[in-house]
Amino acid sequence: MSDIKKSRRLFDVAKQYIPGGVNSPVRAFGSVSDTPRFIKSADGCYMTDVDGNKYIDYVCSWGPMILGHNNEKIRQNVSRAICDGLSFGAVTEIEVEMAQFICDNIAHIDMVRMVNSGTEAVMSAIRLARGYTKKDKIIKFIGCYHGHSDYMLVKAGSGAMTAGTPDSAGVTEGNAADTLTANYNDIDSVEELFIANRGQIAAVIIEPVAANMGVVLPKKDFLQKLRQLCDDNKTLLIFDEVITGFRLQFGGAAQQFDITPDLSVYGKIIGGGMPVGAYGGRREIMSLVAPLGSVYQAGTLSGNPIAMTAGLTQLKIIHEDENFYKKLNLRAGKFFNSIEILIKQYKMPLRCNYIGSIGTIFFSEEIVYDYESAKQTNTGKFADFFRYMLSNGVYTSPSQFEAMFISAAHKDAELETTLDSIENYFKSKQ
Ligand SMILES: *Cc1c(COP(=O)(O)O)cnc(C)c1O
Repeated sequence: MSDIKKSRRLFDVAKQYIPGGVNSPVRAFGSVSDTPRFIKSADGCYMTDVDGNKYIDYVCSWGPMILGHNNEKIRQNVSRAICDGLSFGAVTEIEVEMAQFICDNIAHIDMVRMVNSGTEAVMSAIRLARGYTKKDKIIKFIGCYHGHSDYMLVKAGSGAMTAGTPDSAGVTEGNAADTLTANYNDIDSVEELFIANRGQIAAVIIEPVAANMGVVLPKKDFLQKLRQLCDDNKTLLIFDEVITGFRLQFGGAAQQFDITPDLSVYGKIIGGGMPVGAYGGRREIMSLVAPLGSVYQAGTLSGNPIAMTAGLTQLKIIHEDENFYKKLNLRAGKFFNSIEILIKQYKMPLRCNYIGSIGTIFFSEEIVYDYESAKQTNTGKFADFFRYMLSNGVYTSPSQFEAMFISAAHKDAELETTLDSIENYFKSKQ
């Protein structure tokens, strides 16, 4: 076991002053019964903790660092922007550039509004959908995570699922009453809700590839049928692309599966490591947002110039490289496929779900296609695997119900080292 004295000490102090010692629950390593490593610095695909341990990082800040950590160009541009001041609370050129860049390069976005997190982007998109349709109810999918706003903390994934408390205290029945839940990959469950609530559904919100109950792929035609149901019922389809946007392809899952959502929500990668979220869509709908229209939404630090600089620099680096996604997805695909081969070779009772550069190793033999099947996994065995990998210098998501993220900075050497560690773990279980 590597020395983690400083992390232990810091965590003890942290727990006195911060609830659970963390500013976001899953960082506490609770479900894997380990001490969170306090990170001092990161570069490329490596992170170094305060005790000097170095890890190959498969969390990538939960997705944003698709170019790897500490990208030189982003760092330079941010350093330069900081010299001009941190925030003005007034309009800036860089926000216009960001908005134009997104609208020019994502076919179904005519207008976009910047906010400060994925949570905020989801809240805003839902308010807009209700304002536009003049209907109240929202359909979400069990196990999908859309941030921590009250009415989205109903049968949510991610940390809420890890903790075994999908519904949060403090969310009133009134808050939750307009949120209807369907089963992921089960179009009949959606249709039933539409029938039982005819004319009342403002929007269906979905992670087009679910990544907060572990990575769960949409079945063939599921998203197409969802699009059709929304059209038939004059309901807006909202793609929460906080993880998949700029991840699977530049245009996210919408591009990958060739589906046009009415509204799209972004976060994570769009900020390049800074707190940014965004929502956008057709001009006709977005024109309802204040001050143009009657749906109010605001933010003191929205479109912050430093955050915009980090995000736009990252998006431009990705976009300038025509083969960016081809290369990244190929390398990641080879990696996840090698894991599948090892699983078969060592007859491990596991499954690997993956698409593009995200994937999850499920500690279950059964196919994982929704919340119920994801819950069949053995989280105790996952925790054992997690601790083994971490003590061998591989930092994966400290929960069974999250994705592993591969960045452009993960090269063959690191991926092979990781595969060796996985193979050694499998060998130790024979
Ligand atoms: C992370 C995430 C969110 C919330 O974003 P925050 O920036 O953490 O508020 C929303 N939706 C999905 C799909 C996410 O993965």
